[in-house]
Amino acid sequence: PSATAPSPTYPAHNTPSSSLQSSPATSTSSTDPETKEEKGFIQTVLDSNPYFSAGFGLMAVGAGLTILRKGTVSGASVLRRQLLVTLEIPSKDKSYLWFLHWMSSQSRGAATLAPTSGADAAGYSSSGKGIFTRLSDRVANKVNQRSQFLAVQTEFKQHDNGSVSTRFNLVPGNGKHLIRYNGAWIQVERTRDAKMMDLSTGAPWETVTLTTLSRDRQVFTELLQEAQKMALLNQEGKTVIYTSWGPEWRPFGQPRKRRVLESVILDEGIGERIVRDVREFVKNEKWYADRGIPYRRGYLLYGPPGSGKTSFIQALAGELEYNICILNLSERGLTNDRLNHLLTNLPERSIMLLEDIDAAFAKRDKTQEGFQSMVTFSGLLNALDGVASSEGRIIFMTTNHIEVLDPALIRPGRVDLREYVGDATPSQIRKMFKRFYEQENVLADTFVRSLEGHKVSTAALQGHFVHFKDRPEEACESVHYLTTPHRVD
Ligand code: ADP
Repeated sequence: PSATAPSPTYPAHNTPSSSLQSSPATSTSSTDPETKEEKGFIQTVLDSNPYFSAGFGLMAVGAGLTILRKGTVSGASVLRRQLLVTLEIPSKDKSYLWFLHWMSSQSRGAATLAPTSGADAAGYSSSGKGIFTRLSDRVANKVNQRSQFLAVQTEFKQHDNGSVSTRFNLVPGNGKHLIRYNGAWIQVERTRDAKMMDLSTGAPWETVTLTTLSRDRQVFTELLQEAQKMALLNQEGKTVIYTSWGPEWRPFGQPRKRRVLESVILDEGIGERIVRDVREFVKNEKWYADRGIPYRRGYLLYGPPGSGKTSFIQALAGELEYNICILNLSERGLTNDRLNHLLTNLPERSIMLLEDIDAAFAKRDKTQEGFQSMVTFSGLLNALDGVASSEGRIIFMTTNHIEVLDPALIRPGRVDLREYVGDATPSQIRKMFKRFYEQENVLADTFVRSLEGHKVSTAALQGHFVHFKDRPEEACESVHYLTTPHRVD
């Protein structure tokens, strides 16, 4: 037996693993025929059992697919990063509205919003290869599903004669759209964040994201420039009317055609005095700075309604190529802080117009209406005295009842020039008559004479002449409409 006994070094030699060394079965395992048989059996079962092998197979396939999917996803995102370029325009940015308007003008022609046929979409993808082709097809499909999703933007216009017209612009709604611009395909995605809000306006936060091929990245600049040009062109020769929107100024409707100064007929000298004063102010910034005087000027136009106060301010803005910011002090939700903020943050080159300044505080007595506005009288004075921008601040106030205004409001420094704009004087009546019926000198005199001793507003005169358009004789004969409480309908 000693001849067959294993050499003392044998186990160590054959089993380098420490676990095997410590195992009591080590010395017997290789020699026990039963164990050998058992192992063979398990192996056989494992090998021959289809369920086991299928399980392993499935696991392997699953793992393989996961790796492949991850690979594809990261590969796609790498490709995306490499091949696509994205531009984000948040709703806070000036170019946001420009872009939407530009888009709406593009979609008016209809075809550009999205390719409706697969062929067009394929055109988009054909510039790429392999994965990118498939990716872009997917994008194009999504786009096709959503491309009909438009939003409406209503423009409201009030004409000088009081009539109102509205226009509906269809702008891209939320979702994805595909456009072609200067030979490049651009995916436009408009999204609204339900949780985020623009705190200054209270409007939901929106973003437009433009995506195009990297090699076409220059189209973004071209496109934005075109949108800006279009927006500015729309304002050229026009007056933009701003109204307050929370603590912000926003354009109200489309810019209006400038009203020529001569179209507002005021009594002798009034218009000229105001224009001269404003022009003088505008060019004297240094004079104010040198003397440490706040660079602002206040004007008050007072007089009965319908005498042309507002129209004159509009025409003046047009003449100076300024815009107008209109604020109603009795506006709901207006507070001292907001008023102050609005007055210190006027858009460039604009005239501030506070209309019917007396109404704001008179209203507060009517308790049943409640406090519509939270602006206090001292709040208004503070806002008027507040720091003006370096550009200067021109404030116009209008009122029908100067007698109810607190003297503190109209003292120099707050109101530097005040002008009475009253009912039509004989010279105004004549001028207005001649504006409507140019050749009718004799009839003009008759008309003026027949209105002697009567109070008539220029607005009423305008209504009368519009009614008897092209019929000067009838306008003369029907002068009693203006002198009695009849209305010209
Ligand atoms: P106010 O601000 O004094 O109440 P508006 O400027 O609102 O008057 O005038 C109302 C309407 O009457 C406008 O359509 C305007 O064109 C016309 N109107 C009033 N006064 C004049 C005027 N002096 N010259 C030309 N149009 C006038």
